[in-house]
Amino acid sequence: MPTYDVIVLGLGGMGSAAAYHLAARGRRVLGLEQFTPAHDRGSSHGQTRIIREAYAEGPAYVPLVRRAYELWQALERTTDTPLLQITGGLMIGHPDTAFLQGVQASVQRHHLPHEVLSAEDLRRRYPVLRPLPDEIAIWEPRAGFLRPEACIQAHLAAAQRHGAALHFEEPVQRWRATDAGVEVVTARGRYQAERLVITAGAWLGALVAELAPHLRVERQPVFWFAPTELIEAWEPERFPIWIWQRRDQPTLYGFPRIDGLVKAGIHHTGQWTTADSVERAVAPAEGDELRRLLAARFRGLDTPPARAGVCLYTNSPDEHFIIDRHPAHAQVVVAAACSGHGFKFCSVVGELLADLTTDASAQPLDLFRWERLRGKAHRA
Ligand SMILES: Cc1cc2nc3c(=O)[nH]c(=O)nc-3n(C[C@H](O)[C@H](O)[C@H](O)COP(=O)(O)OP(=O)(O)OC[C@H]3O[C@@H](n4cnc5c(N)ncnc54)[C@H](O)[C@@H]3O)c2cc1C
Repeated sequence: MPTYDVIVLGLGGMGSAAAYHLAARGRRVLGLEQFTPAHDRGSSHGQTRIIREAYAEGPAYVPLVRRAYELWQALERTTDTPLLQITGGLMIGHPDTAFLQGVQASVQRHHLPHEVLSAEDLRRRYPVLRPLPDEIAIWEPRAGFLRPEACIQAHLAAAQRHGAALHFEEPVQRWRATDAGVEVVTARGRYQAERLVITAGAWLGALVAELAPHLRVERQPVFWFAPTELIEAWEPERFPIWIWQRRDQPTLYGFPRIDGLVKAGIHHTGQWTTADSVERAVAPAEGDELRRLLAARFRGLDTPPARAGVCLYTNSPDEHFIIDRHPAHAQVVVAAACSGHGFKFCSVVGELLADLTTDASAQPLDLFRWERLRGKAHRA
């Protein structure tokens, strides 16, 4: 039976990064993935992912995202691939919304460069925007977007260059802890390793039953629109990524015009599903609500979507990640439940996973501990 130092189960956003960092530290790594490299059935596809520093979800994420930027840029250099484009970011909404208050808290705690823009400023600088008179925006210069498929391919290529064995289209059926470490059984074979990293995204509940009650998989349709007015004003050199929380309305997010189309989505409010049973086709009527919400905020986006796709969020009850050792098996490390905001962190999570796997004294961040979930299952 082949034996490795570490098996990485799931080679999506997080797993590809973990395989790279472990292999770069000289570990003998086996990566196992049920689908093809950078496939479109999990949580890490669809052309773009926002990266931002003024982190509304909590100031504790700011040092982490700073390290993530460094590692993405280092990966760009080692693989000679463009992955990250800085456009700046507009965090728009009423100043009393939880989102804008969270952005302000991170800006203040970490003294982040920013500008506060009035509705009038916004209309002047970005002629496609239609803010309400009492809405504002916090502009952050470091925000931008990542190309997720290219990021995964870059981590996989770099892992292979450091000697990692990566197997695709080889689903893991089960794993178990042994005296020597772990044994992993796939559709094609049986492998042993001293340690196991589980980065199975929306499939995690099937592989780690203890976590299943704390995870909820959410179907997220995403849409692309062809702007009909002021097309040059949407180009990434002039238009930033944005997140918009209008009072009592769902949070929207979107991108500049990339490859001819503007991508946008509604954050959360999707249906609960499972990774294996999810409806992957998007019905035409599913874009109606987003179209209506966009038409009230932008000029020239009131058209039927040109393209649509489905992506999966895996939510924890508090929407913070789970990055920790298994409480019963210290040789098993899990990174999951990124609750719709994890991609920007994949580079740094790969490094954290390598730390937790190779250094017994490394401790998980309190925010991400498994233990905090006790008594916090999702309501049915
Ligand atoms: C619509 C949408 C928009 C988003 N926008 C943003 C954003 O703008 N910014 C941001 O930071 N984040 C964003 N996110 C969240 C982010 O993309 C996710 O948090 C991140 O991609 C999760 O990565 P992952 O590695 O956990 O999951 P995945 O990339 O899905 O990887 C899990 C992998 O495990 C494999 N696997 C599972 N089970 C098995 C098995 N039994 N055997 C072998 N392989 C297995 C899967 O096939 C998959 O490849 C968004 C997500 C969605 C869906």
